[in-house]
Amino acid sequence: MKRTQRKVMALLMGLLLVGCQGRGYQERIYDEGVSIELAQWRKETIKELRYGLRFDIPEQRDEAIEAEACIRFVLEQRQEVVLDFRERADLLHELRVNGEVCEYDFVNEHIIIPRQATRKGENVVEITFTAGEQSLNRNEEYLYTLLVPDRARTVFPCFEQPNLKAEFTLQLEVPAAWEAVSNTEVEVENTDGERKHIRFKPTEPLSTYLFSFVAGKLDRAEYRDGERIITAYHREVDAKRVAQLDVIFEQVAASLHWLEEYTGIPYPFAKYSLIILPGFQYGGMEHTGATLYNDTRMFLSEHPTLDEELARTELIAHETAHMWFGDLVTMDWFNDVWTKEVFANYFAARITEPLFPEVNHALNSIKNYTASALSEDRTPGTNAIRQDLDNLRNAGLIYGNIIYNKAPVMMNKLVEMMGEEAFREGIREYLTTFAYGNATWDDLIAILDAKSEEDLAAFSDVWVNQKGMPHITLTERNGMLEIVQSDPWGRSLVWPQRFDVTFLGDDTMVTVEAVLTEESVALPIPEGTRTILPNTDGRGYGLFVPTVETMEWLLGHWQEVADETARQALLMTLYENYQAKLIGADVWMEALLRGVETETNVLIASTLCSYLGEPLRELGAEQLELQLWQYAEQHPLTSCRQQLMRCLISNARSPQIVGRLYEVWRGQSHALLSERDYTNLAYELALHMPERQEEIMRVQRSRIVNPDRVREFDFVAQVITPDTLAMDEAFERLLKPENRSVEPWAEKALTYLNHPLREGYAVKYIRPGLEVLEEVQRTGDIFFPKKWARALLRHHHSEEAQREVEAFFAAHPDYSPLLKSKILQVVDFGAK
Ligand SMILES: [Zn+2]
Repeated sequence: MKRTQRKVMALLMGLLLVGCQGRGYQERIYDEGVSIELAQWRKETIKELRYGLRFDIPEQRDEAIEAEACIRFVLEQRQEVVLDFRERADLLHELRVNGEVCEYDFVNEHIIIPRQATRKGENVVEITFTAGEQSLNRNEEYLYTLLVPDRARTVFPCFEQPNLKAEFTLQLEVPAAWEAVSNTEVEVENTDGERKHIRFKPTEPLSTYLFSFVAGKLDRAEYRDGERIITAYHREVDAKRVAQLDVIFEQVAASLHWLEEYTGIPYPFAKYSLIILPGFQYGGMEHTGATLYNDTRMFLSEHPTLDEELARTELIAHETAHMWFGDLVTMDWFNDVWTKEVFANYFAARITEPLFPEVNHALNSIKNYTASALSEDRTPGTNAIRQDLDNLRNAGLIYGNIIYNKAPVMMNKLVEMMGEEAFREGIREYLTTFAYGNATWDDLIAILDAKSEEDLAAFSDVWVNQKGMPHITLTERNGMLEIVQSDPWGRSLVWPQRFDVTFLGDDTMVTVEAVLTEESVALPIPEGTRTILPNTDGRGYGLFVPTVETMEWLLGHWQEVADETARQALLMTLYENYQAKLIGADVWMEALLRGVETETNVLIASTLCSYLGEPLRELGAEQLELQLWQYAEQHPLTSCRQQLMRCLISNARSPQIVGRLYEVWRGQSHALLSERDYTNLAYELALHMPERQEEIMRVQRSRIVNPDRVREFDFVAQVITPDTLAMDEAFERLLKPENRSVEPWAEKALTYLNHPLREGYAVKYIRPGLEVLEEVQRTGDIFFPKKWARALLRHHHSEEAQREVEAFFAAHPDYSPLLKSKILQVVDFGAK
């Protein structure tokens, strides 16, 4: 039967089956992906779901993986059953239902089992098939599954939706020398010659996106935490890096203890392992009992900055918090995926606090969450925290800075409104009510609302359901300070919030809390005030536009503000004003340099260093680079010297500084630079000095010991060439999905193809690069579409480039709004 005939057949069958349920329901139930209609229908009818899975994994990564799935579930009556499998039809070898070989239809990524084959009560569907490869991440010597948000269906037939939780029992056949890890402990393991057979214990009820296994040549380490044993698997060969497992284990244990104490619920799964992998797409992924981590985020270089150490701890705490928030209680549908991310990040910050007692955590929180939320919320491509999702295949596009970073900012405000104790009680009730099940944001707000005097639903509506941020303008009038918020999207929305305002006089300082619950609020200005500093506690969210006098004062004196949180918040306010083009690159650069000269707090200093690149590129003066070089040599803060060096590596253009960088690279003479820094430096130098490209790349390759990192180097090296023909060929290769399978490598290669030095030449990559973005979404993982767009566009600021992007949108008037917003979040055209 041809595909179209099958589709018509299936539709007709669907009409018969759900004829009474309304037309929209019928139309979308067989759509590609998993429509919300299909998910709702299955949620109502499929009960007591269990999967038995077996994969036979060969040593060679290009050999097929043969597999079996045994899917058991209970039906209240005989009915058609729709399974998901996003692969070619010929990978399905045989399907039996209740013991009988079954004729089925395969339409739009669905296996459709006819009603006659099923029965009331328990049904058993047995499928022999070849596993789909897309989400198996097969590398030399290891593979790992990464199935979030809807990729289980690319590997094996299943009911892919987060609210059909199931017990999984997994069996693996692997080469005898390999290790294998999954969500639960090994129950049976035996080796027969070249092959090892492993059966894992059944899991607790899991959503498909949390099921996972890793197999390959891995080293194993163990840590005892009281009664609990935590295991780690990795591929690192450098002894100094491996030694960092001690601190990693301690932080995992500390996170588990904190969460058990706070939630009152003991760790809800049978075991805890972490697997640290090179080339892993994300920072981490919270597979129940088997969390995956990216090796560069876990094994830090020899001189990690405080930011890097904090980021590692926050990542560990984030993934561990997911065991309760996401794994134990899971969102009902992926539109609420932010509910798990907001808790993971909110609690990550709190878990990290006692582990770094010397750090100013209020400052760190605005530096992390607020800054990153603003960076997306200020763009024309921004979105609300909660977004609609009609089909699971678009779930990956829901993710972004807004759900990870704006949501915790919102959560802080919510806790502030409710009070800490009521919030904690609400969280405990939420976790106990929905344990091993699913919940929506509305379920949570209903619990919290009952414990609060305030109208949380109204608060949630503007902060959660609406996109964008307020512009908050301060004006002096008749001895009063007027604070007015406006909605840049013209909807007249009001974001209720509180923040501090500090009135500075010659020798007076008065701080007042502004309660901005309406469009505006007026505060009396104390006698003797000369300067009015907005948002000095950083709790406020939006673009703060100070009075003209204050702006002038800030540009010259922000660095003199003694309170560190206020100093960080004011620095960020200046940065937002620079982004909004309310101040120019020259005065902004001067303000930054004043800070570099005097800053003693390492977190503020690192913020400063991260801000330098943009105006440096815009101004492009050799004198500035020389000045930064001087700071990079003499700054009293080690991390500042290191970060300034990194800033110069990425941004320096003048022959003099490039020459000095070459000397540093040749002699490997900078004590604070890591192997990764030297590799990045080699790429940059090879682009700046085409006559030395061959030498630089050859020498750098010979310096790398770890074979996984040599492979990465060889991949990126394809684009580090003065030969434009070779560049074009490398770009063409990147357009093919199989050459993008290690996403961090592909991202890096695309970034260097569009390096600032190649800005003019690379304009021609923009159109074809955008044309594949839909495919990048289909074949890549969650964060990749934005990363791809960013790698392609971040260094293009020309009018030609802008025209290319506009022409692309004009040619695709019906382009997916979610993907379009990813592009609009990264473009930055025109001079500031
Ligand atoms: Zn997360």
